[in-house]
Amino acid sequence: KTFASLGVHPQICEACETLNFKRPTQIQIQAIPEALTGRDVIGLAQTGSGKTAAFGIPILQALWDDPRPFFACILAPTRELAYQITQQLESLGSTIGVRCATIVGGMDMMSQSIALGKRPHIVVATPGRLQDHLENTKGFSLKGLRYLVMDEADRLLDMDFGPIIDKLLQSIPRERRTMLFSATMTTKVAKLQRASLKNPVRVEV
Ligand code: AMP
Repeated sequence: KTFASLGVHPQICEACETLNFKRPTQIQIQAIPEALTGRDVIGLAQTGSGKTAAFGIPILQALWDDPRPFFACILAPTRELAYQITQQLESLGSTIGVRCATIVGGMDMMSQSIALGKRPHIVVATPGRLQDHLENTKGFSLKGLRYLVMDEADRLLDMDFGPIIDKLLQSIPRERRTMLFSATMTTKVAKLQRASLKNPVRVEV
């Protein structure tokens, strides 16, 4: 399999080549074609499986067709993971000019407000700080959001982000695509899945 054979645009294939992604990984082979058709995806995969590109590539491709600010939001449990996701999305999206903002706790709120004011395409965030900006940063909303990703959902829930995520789900459109990735399928993850995904395809490596 190649990225092109999964339906990935030439511009994004080119970015994969630049990153030295020679062949798609198993999770990418399973998830990318489904996500490109507009299905919600639940992915059971560990870090290192290539899950970031598995959700990132379909989002970048949809963004290419309909570039608009606040197109996608990626929720991550930790600051470090959020920065890694941003870095990978910016690399994969370099050929299409994607702009991302990383919105995480423990960092300066004002500079994040300025970053949001530039109306990035993608917001990669930890849930608490994102909610803080939704409540306090003038002019920032996710009312036009098209894609929501919850990465490492088991860890998000272990860190008690569940109530904040429930609240966030109230401030984003119901008509959207959602992808949830988790290393493990727990009772809490299953509950979040039922609350946030529509008729998802399940992919597992
Ligand atoms: P992730 O599971 O998303 O954290 O990705 C783990 C690492 O694998 C990252 O450093 C990626 O840059 C890399 N990676 C993702 N997809 C591929 C691929 N198809 N070929 C080679 N490396 C990849």
